[in-house]
Amino acid sequence: MDSIGEICISFSGTYAGAGMEELAALYDLIEKQTSQFCNEFSIACGPGCGTCCEHFMPDITDLEARLVAAYLLLIKRDDRLIERLVEERDSTTGPCPLYRADSPYHCSVYPARPLICRLFGACANGDKQGNAIFRRCRYNLEETMPLALQLGPDVTVMQDYSYALRGIDSSGGDGEFLPKAILAQLEQLSFLIAMIETDRSNPDDTPTPQAS
Ligand code: SF4
Ligand code: SF4
Repeated sequence: MDSIGEICISFSGTYAGAGMEELAALYDLIEKQTSQFCNEFSIACGPGCGTCCEHFMPDITDLEARLVAAYLLLIKRDDRLIERLVEERDSTTGPCPLYRADSPYHCSVYPARPLICRLFGACANGDKQGNAIFRRCRYNLEETMPLALQLGPDVTVMQDYSYALRGIDSSGGDGEFLPKAILAQLEQLSFLIAMIETDRSNPDDTPTPQAS
């Protein structure tokens, strides 16, 4: 298994699969829209920069955490990463335990990374008047993006994506810091995966009725 699409298929029809496909679709939309936004306004992170992950602990919903947990269990399969989450269970500040200075995208779960990680430094924020404003990430010392942009009300802002996420997260999603949120989902999914695998290894052995 090597993709988010396959993870969604694996959990399809289970309680854990609820909302997963919608979340994957929202992430695809964000990818497309933030790329367009960044291209249009010459916004780019510095080469090799991942400083935000060193100073930040994302607050994520159950659904976001479930996708990361599924990615860790079914694709990443790295016990050391899970140990690190356990060690950082109560952390509320960075560095994020999934941060890797030596990996290309710096994120160990890049394809499944949470919403805020997709938006930080790549999207505008809404102000109280309903306008969209973009401000350069404060860690970007190389100034590879404009300092500030005042944009119109038609630009999609971070809050719009957050509302969309809450609309598909049946938990209501108040959010929890990343290590604790993912560990809770790892526990639930491990149990569910074990049940699914047991079912597959014990197909229905009801005898076929014999013709009389
Ligand atoms: S958002 Fe800022 S800190 Fe994060 S990678 Fe981009 S430039 Fe670096
Ligand atoms: S989940 Fe990944 S992208 Fe998000 S803060 Fe952690 S390391 Fe960075």
